[in-house]
Amino acid sequence: MIRLPAHLVRLAATPRDKDEAIAQVAQLLVDAGNVPPDYVQGMLRREHTANTYLGNGVAIPHGVPEDKDLIRETGIAVLQVPQGVSWTEAGEAARLIVGIAARSDEHLEVLRRLTRVLADPAQVDELTRTADPARIIEALTGERAAATPAAPAVSTLPYRTELRLPNPAGMHARPATQLAQLVKAHGGRVQLSYGGALADASSMMSVLQLGLPAGATFELSADDPATLQALRDAVAAGLGDDLSAPASAQAPERVAPAWEPQRVSATIEGVPASGGLVVGVTRQHRTERLQVSDEGVSDPALEATRLDAAIAAARQDLHDLAREVGESLGRERAAIFEAHAALLEDEAVIQDTVRRILDGHSVAWAYQAVMNERIAQLQRLDDPNLAARAADLGDVQGRVLRKLLGLPEPQLTSGQPVVLIAHDLTPSDTATLDPGSVLGFCTAVGGPTSHTAIIARGLGLPAIVAAGEGVLNIPDGTPCILDGASGRLYLEPSEADRLEAAARREQAERDQAAAREARHQPATTRDGHRVEVAANINRASDAASALEAGAEGVGLMRTEFLFLERDSIPSEEEQEREYRAMAESLAGRPLIIRTLDIGGDKEVPYLGLAREDNSFLGMRGIRLCFERPDLFVPQLRAIYRAARHGDVRIMFPMISTLEDFRRAKGIAEAVRAELGAPQVPLGIMVEVPSAALLAEEFAREVDFFSIGTNDLTQYTLAMDRLHPQLARQTDALHPAVLRMIDTTVRAAQRHGRWVGVCGGAAGEPLGALLLSGLGVHELSVSVPQVPAVKAALREHSMTELRELAARALTCASAAEVRALV
Ligand code: PEP
Ligand code: MG
Repeated sequence: MIRLPAHLVRLAATPRDKDEAIAQVAQLLVDAGNVPPDYVQGMLRREHTANTYLGNGVAIPHGVPEDKDLIRETGIAVLQVPQGVSWTEAGEAARLIVGIAARSDEHLEVLRRLTRVLADPAQVDELTRTADPARIIEALTGERAAATPAAPAVSTLPYRTELRLPNPAGMHARPATQLAQLVKAHGGRVQLSYGGALADASSMMSVLQLGLPAGATFELSADDPATLQALRDAVAAGLGDDLSAPASAQAPERVAPAWEPQRVSATIEGVPASGGLVVGVTRQHRTERLQVSDEGVSDPALEATRLDAAIAAARQDLHDLAREVGESLGRERAAIFEAHAALLEDEAVIQDTVRRILDGHSVAWAYQAVMNERIAQLQRLDDPNLAARAADLGDVQGRVLRKLLGLPEPQLTSGQPVVLIAHDLTPSDTATLDPGSVLGFCTAVGGPTSHTAIIARGLGLPAIVAAGEGVLNIPDGTPCILDGASGRLYLEPSEADRLEAAARREQAERDQAAAREARHQPATTRDGHRVEVAANINRASDAASALEAGAEGVGLMRTEFLFLERDSIPSEEEQEREYRAMAESLAGRPLIIRTLDIGGDKEVPYLGLAREDNSFLGMRGIRLCFERPDLFVPQLRAIYRAARHGDVRIMFPMISTLEDFRRAKGIAEAVRAELGAPQVPLGIMVEVPSAALLAEEFAREVDFFSIGTNDLTQYTLAMDRLHPQLARQTDALHPAVLRMIDTTVRAAQRHGRWVGVCGGAAGEPLGALLLSGLGVHELSVSVPQVPAVKAALREHSMTELRELAARALTCASAAEVRALV
């Protein structure tokens, strides 16, 4: 570690000009014995060929490479010039001048710390005015600067808390971007520590390099308690990730192949990334390695301008791509390209690149080297989800380099339809694949939760990943069958197998097309029983797509999403507008609005809620609303005002006792009476075992039930719904959960009450059949699931479904239930 003794810091200097400033800082190094007096000549020469101004009032004059041998000992010296001295042609003034004499790369740590200081103008300002050299020494060499994962460190910030990361895919690019943005919005310093490493939370890259996997416990620290509280809440809320992730964002589980070819020359086992069966021939996708040379640079300012221009052009491309993908695949899928755009802006990358440019390297070489370091760090991490994020960085790197090298974006198309084989595909490659010529793909590396896989699922493109480097040796044109659901690639299947696979694929496509065609028809079983199929939505804009998908109403509108992704409470007027827009879009179809379900995994950063040890068992849902009438009452007022415009029903979440319901109903009634609004049905979520067990009593008082299988499962089985190790066991079709549902439905039937199910089990084909057999009236599912759920119900008679449900209730495990079909 490089040292900066106090005698190498000179405060309140007043050099006449830049050359004198360089001479003064060089003299400090001369006096300390690090360099001989003529070293200053090299520093001046360097400065004339490459300006060493870093930005924000900091300059780093240093010698030319030929003078390295003059250096007796690596050292740095600091000249503080509070008035500033003009340093660049544009007239930028340097106020903190860090003279460097480095024999090898010991000074890089100081530069790294400098880039951290640079990102914080308030700190630079303080350092240029302080009368205490210790402040400068601490900033440049002490623990306070950002550390890298390789350098174990502890935070020195005064306010700290331990947290568990709820994001199912770990800390990936999107949440890291949101965290960095929040930190910048709050100001001040925030750090994350994990596994002995410390990251600056305002740098997305630094956060990514920690490699936080799903469920990781880490420490969040800040220099201010309010910031700490707000960020803790934001992390718990998922930092923009939907913690009840939609089906397509989740990796498909590896399933036993529904069908296997009889005669093939080889079977390659990969990891399923996107379901579907395709028959075709292989084609290798070989990426050209970008040739980046490092010719000497005469004008660093010009190189820096080129970097700016390349980043601006890449940013524009990414915004265009995000818009196009948003239009074709939805906002969720497009978010990755916004995250890529944020990666472009990473201050630390830009500063490191500029530093290398100042060291005499070309802009393309410098940018490639800086990004390569970060990619290598991510690839070294144990967690496959996070290592997969290296693909995101590689994607961004390639885009910027192509701009710098004047190369076009690659087009992955081919003359005839093929199964593409690649080492890896970037998310941008995947989003721009031509579905007319690419039937599916198989990559040697990658992971099922990568954005590449998520986009493939959005495109309906069968895909397998992590199939091993061996796939890169498959000759082009090899006949093959790709089974995305089982993660298998079959090579050289017999003609009979190819025909059979093609027939199966066509059948699956016909089924999907038929389901889509019939999406506006009711889900009526063969013996004439109708089950309502509705959609779960989060925003007014989702209502139209729900209807388009064939939904017969909205069985769950999660109002907390109106409170997330912003930094203040939505007003009563704003909420009313949103609820009213939904009611109007639904044109008389039912709209069940659930009052705020904040707490547990869904927290709202700006509400300043107290920390909970067991957030799922604490002040969540209705309990929080009772504590916070400032949230509950305006929301109820907004719903009642909107109720005049449609068939609006109100549902309370997390009801566990009768007293809860009575109290909520009392408050709602008072609000209604004050507004003179019409009465609307008042129901409860059945998502806590006590509500299911007391269904008989509840049924006498509530207007309807909607069963939340997500929470009912976690509370019945005592398994955290976000716990990565318990994910496979947290199965809503467990007989213990089905018996809770059965108890609820039978109580409802005795009292003539309507029962829906709005948890994830309703959208699974088997779940939909079982729940209908148990007697629920409505299944409320995510929008894309509507056609398939309706189609599945039409395939059976209610008599069959009742028998199926009765058998499931006698099973002893979820596996037994699943084996029934
Ligand atoms: C549920 O718990 O099943 C439910 C639908 O509510 P959420 O997923 O929003 O907790
Ligand atoms: Mg719930």
